[in-house]
Amino acid sequence: MAHEVGLEQALRIAAQVERFVRTEIIPYERDERWGAHGPSTGLVEEMRSRARTAGVLTPHILSDGSHLTHRGTARVLQAAGLSPLGPVAVNVAAPDEGNMFLLGRIATAEQKERFLRPLVDGRARSAFFMTEPATEGGAGSDPSMLKTVARRDGADWIVSGRKAFITGADGARVGIIMARTDAHATLFLVELPNSAIRIERVLDTIDGSMPGGHAVVVIDELRVAASQILGAPGEGFKYAQVRLAPARLTHCMRWLGACRRAQEIATAYAVRREAFGKLLIDHEGVGFMLADNQIELQQAELMIDWCAGVLDSGAPGTLQSSMTKVAVSEALFRIADRCVQILGGTGVTRDTVVEQVFREVRAFRIYDGPSEVHRWSLAKSIKRAALKPGES
Ligand SMILES: Cc1cc2nc3c(=O)[nH]c(=O)nc-3n(C[C@H](O)[C@H](O)[C@H](O)COP(=O)(O)OP(=O)(O)OC[C@H]3O[C@@H](n4cnc5c(N)ncnc54)[C@H](O)[C@@H]3O)c2cc1C
Repeated sequence: MAHEVGLEQALRIAAQVERFVRTEIIPYERDERWGAHGPSTGLVEEMRSRARTAGVLTPHILSDGSHLTHRGTARVLQAAGLSPLGPVAVNVAAPDEGNMFLLGRIATAEQKERFLRPLVDGRARSAFFMTEPATEGGAGSDPSMLKTVARRDGADWIVSGRKAFITGADGARVGIIMARTDAHATLFLVELPNSAIRIERVLDTIDGSMPGGHAVVVIDELRVAASQILGAPGEGFKYAQVRLAPARLTHCMRWLGACRRAQEIATAYAVRREAFGKLLIDHEGVGFMLADNQIELQQAELMIDWCAGVLDSGAPGTLQSSMTKVAVSEALFRIADRCVQILGGTGVTRDTVVEQVFREVRAFRIYDGPSEVHRWSLAKSIKRAALKPGES
């Protein structure tokens, strides 16, 4: 029963967020301050100030500090995702949302005050530093290839290495850095900017909704106090998993919202535009694309809800979130692609947000685990379950 009350509250918040995104944020999609590396700091601050006034800033964390259930969060984040700018505007975007979740779970009271509070208040952004340049053989799909190292120096630690694809590093005020400590990995919390952390370049990528873009970063003899270790030393890989299962799922939630919007735009076009003497939707080729989209949107929503329920039960949900991430990211790509196709030439222009959504969901098949890595771990678990004890 308590769960149902929580869901009702989440549905009310989702309705508020949807109204806000549709009326106040969608108009910003034409704002010149939204560039190739995401919305500018000024634009983010302006949108967040509106969200604060409307009472929808950080809507998944309640005023008493409690977090909506994962199932409730799904409703709210889908509403935020109706515009690619919506999640940033209401402060449920990646990587901040996942970082807030992790800090809420693992950080000490003192660390929460220093690093989590500014994020929940929507006054700071954060970055998660795990991936390293492929050209140097660093961590990518395989985090155990981590090359960034941390060594003890008295009561402090000294961290050195290079990181790549660090979303939002440019402009972030809070960083969570993964570094190798002996055979294990440890997470370090840092305030940014820091003179020992240099942004080498911001990559030009296919997507463009995340503030600060994705950066290559040099960490050069960064001194961190032991009190800034997140959780226990050597437990970094474990905490990354705590963050990753729900973070994968929240990407699914936000991009599901974006694809619903793409479907609305494609539908509006197909029910008005004529070719060969009839409306596009009355041509079976177009009608069936819209129908397939509707089926896959529904499947995606159900799968997210199922996985969110698993996480709400307290289970880690590692395999379930892998399955959901593969199924949803690949379905959303097909949906966005069909929407582009239905819109004809207009589909590949920036006259609608559909081409942006298409580019965003393409990148989503790679980050937070490429599809192949998830399929590979599923195959390993299928093998383990199928073999009898003693067989290998
Ligand atoms: C837009 C974007 C934002 C990102 N943001 C962040 C961030 O904020 N912080 C961060 O730390 N990282 C971030 N990343 C990095 C992301 O997590 C990595 O790109 C991802 O883990 C893959 O690593 P890689 O790029 O090194 O690819 P590689 O590890 O080189 O893999 C390349 C390809 O090999 C295949 N492959 C790999 N392993 C297997 C396997 N076991 N079986 C079959 N095929 C396999 C897959 O097809 C994969 O796509 C981001 C990436 C992108 C694109």
